[in-house]
Order: sequence, then structure tokens, then C-alpha cells
Amino acid sequence: MLETEGKCVLIVEDNPLNMKLFGAMVAAQGFGVLQATNGPRGLSMAHQHRPDLIIMDVNLPGMSGLEVTQALKADEETRDIPIIVTTAYGLRGDDPAIRASGCDGFMAKPIAISEFLDVVECLMMRSLHRRLTAL
Ligand code: MN
Repeated sequence: MLETEGKCVLIVEDNPLNMKLFGAMVAAQGFGVLQATNGPRGLSMAHQHRPDLIIMDVNLPGMSGLEVTQALKADEETRDIPIIVTTAYGLRGDDPAIRASGCDGFMAKPIAISEFLDVVECLMMRSLHRRLTAL
């Protein structure tokens, strides 16, 4: 059983329905939920709150999710936060732009709930493992 207490997930998503759906799924798993609806806000919230996991949309106002991901992965303060990129725009996980962003996982929309839960749990475990081994 995954220990969820005190763990939080940052969702960066500008579509209100997706935000609601992802937020509900993350909360149902027992994690805290942080929300940003544009790229710059997602970047600043990641720095401010150091979430255990980020779910990142690609098409966002201000700054794309791939740009935000790249910026977080280039910064040693935030590079260990796992990031799942998600988009409906026909991109695949092996797309060069997705890979170049440095993200840790990819999910195509519409999201399958079971896949979503598996990916969140898997990356959250990895995040906890990194924290433990960094002690
Ligand atoms: Mn979007």
C-alpha cells in the first residue's frame, strides 16, 4: 500500500473538465491536489510547493507544458520531481518533442482511468524512492 499522507500532486491544465477529472482521481487516491491553469503559474507553483508529482498538459496559455517541463528539468532544485505529460493533440510518448522535454511519463487523452492510476502510483513510488536514497 502506497503511503499517501502529506504527498501532493500538481496538475497543470487549462481545460476545466480535465482539471476536474484529474483532480478528482488524484484526490481519490489520497493525495493532496495543487492546480495551475497556465504555464508560468505551473512553473512558479512547482518551485514554491515542490510537489511529489506533476501532471502537465501540453497546450497551455503563456508557456507550453513542454517548455515548463524543460525548465523544471534544467533546474537542479526541481529536476527530481516526476512529470507526466498529457495531450490530446495526436502526439505519442516517443515523439521527439515529448522526449526532449525530459518528462518521466506520457499519457494520451482521453485518459484511461486505470492507466492514469497506475502511472501516478508508479511515478509517486519513484519520487519517494529518490527522496529516501538522497538522505
Ligand atoms: Mn490545454
